[in-house]
Amino acid sequence: MPKRSKLDLGTRACTEIPSSLYASLMNICWFDNHRLGVVEDGRVYDITDALAALPPARYPAPPGDLLVAHLPKIRSEAKRLLPSAASRPVHDACFLSPVANPSKIIGVPVNYGDHVEEARTDKATFTDRYQGSIEQQGLFLKATTSLVGASHGVHVRFPERLTHHELELGVIIGKQAADVTEDEALDVIAGYAIALDMTVRGPEDRSMRKSVDSYSVLGPWLVTADAIADSQALDMSLRVNGELRQQTNTRQMIMPIRRQIAWASRFYTLYPGDIIMTGTCAGVGPVVPGDTVQCSIQGIGAMEVAIYPARAESAKAA
Ligand code: MN
Repeated sequence: MPKRSKLDLGTRACTEIPSSLYASLMNICWFDNHRLGVVEDGRVYDITDALAALPPARYPAPPGDLLVAHLPKIRSEAKRLLPSAASRPVHDACFLSPVANPSKIIGVPVNYGDHVEEARTDKATFTDRYQGSIEQQGLFLKATTSLVGASHGVHVRFPERLTHHELELGVIIGKQAADVTEDEALDVIAGYAIALDMTVRGPEDRSMRKSVDSYSVLGPWLVTADAIADSQALDMSLRVNGELRQQTNTRQMIMPIRRQIAWASRFYTLYPGDIIMTGTCAGVGPVVPGDTVQCSIQGIGAMEVAIYPARAESAKAA
């Protein structure tokens, strides 16, 4: 069981992520109390001053995530600020979702053959209503209020029911896009992150079972698209308390990323910051409070996500 530490950041608990797991790419993150950072070589550099380059808030706010929409500007500001930026080891930082305000979180069902097979053979867990090809089932949406970062952890809302982990490559859209072709599709990607499509098993619509607060985890940061040579060839794995549960490569996807984007954009306009959770492989399984989920995706890095009981405050009316 890995060491777990918690920092008190108001209502936020924080899980330590071992610095040995971090790659040395230029990665954009939100950390602590909404500080903007760049992660390099195991350290988080505070580039919050780069936010001054964003246009001022106005009403109505444009759809999508303002930071992702202006990522090229933020990146050039980051380069200017980095030499004098304050920094700390990544294990001292609390990572929030690298997208603060997505307009939607899109899910791709049954996108790996081995997961199709496990769903087909376990009808008690995977209900009949969710059988058939991706094209037959369609994409689904998760509530944006379910989104958290790696350090927040997952708060199991219904302990008497199964909550499953689903490890997925998270694709973050960078540009407004409607009716894009498969050839154009990869050009609208801002970057990638590790995603957990946490799921309560049962008969309700996916949009409800997968939208519980904290059931969409994205992190630990956004790796810009130019840092990933081929997002359709990435090893990924998930362990629970050190035990290997899921392992695949993104080349095993049934519907490739470019087709997911083209198909989605025929139904709804994609906006900067929209997240696509691109599907999970076999090995999905239950988590319970006290567990630690370790995820890694080649070229992105790794994150540890703690599983907690439901928060007392989450049961109260806001
Ligand atoms: Mn999923």
